Amino acid sequence: MKRRRIRWGRIVFILLLLTLLPVGGRWAWEKLTDTRILIALDAGHGGNDPGATGFVDETFLTETTVEALAELLEHDPSYRVLLCRELDEGADVNSRWRKANAHHAELLLSVHGNSSEDPAAAGFEVYPSPPGRQYHEESFRFASLVADRMGETGIRLRGEGGIRYAYYIDNVKNLVDPSAELPDAPSFAMVDYPECPAVLAEQCFVTNADDVALLGTEEGCKTAAWQYYLAICDFFGTLPQSPTQ
Ligand SMILES: [Zn+2]
Repeated sequence: MKRRRIRWGRIVFILLLLTLLPVGGRWAWEKLTDTRILIALDAGHGGNDPGATGFVDETFLTETTVEALAELLEHDPSYRVLLCRELDEGADVNSRWRKANAHHAELLLSVHGNSSEDPAAAGFEVYPSPPGRQYHEESFRFASLVADRMGETGIRLRGEGGIRYAYYIDNVKNLVDPSAELPDAPSFAMVDYPECPAVLAEQCFVTNADDVALLGTEEGCKTAAWQYYLAICDFFGTLPQSPTQ
């Protein structure tokens, strides 16, 4: 009589599968029924690229702000967050907007700090996706909300109400007021290529002492994060959650 060998390996595999099925099913169900809005946050620079330097490093400003904003959004049941790059790593700019597109982000905010050789240069400005782009109108609407909210901190709004378009002409960055004649030229990759409304914000000048005191210290970055959060709630029409809850 031929004895049947008990195939323990196969039994363990089947048991494992039976254990994992409900977990996998629940994971898939949660993915399918997750209605939270996905916000892509891009902390400018990072890794080998420190960005501008001044009273604080630009990367300190971008990472501190994005970390605080991610926390506020994750705490709010209306939102979930995608970081375009990990906070202690660098990433090529193209990988950042591609990541947002791959995950179908519904809004993208790229945070930067401005700099100038003139220590008096100061203020906040935000660059939406320019006219002619698919998401221009919604990007402009979000930029207006961000500028309004950031103005509440007392920071000076540069340009027209804090909003400008950025264009690269012969590899030189040109900042153009919305009411001026607009060139036909590429803008920042982070506002040109995302498949959703997108803005890039220059939060304050890292080379201006008053700006840094207002929106560039650890506390200042948290203040800025709160204003970005309020602008996101304004944009999607959700009720902000108290940060102390
Ligand atoms: Zn920058």
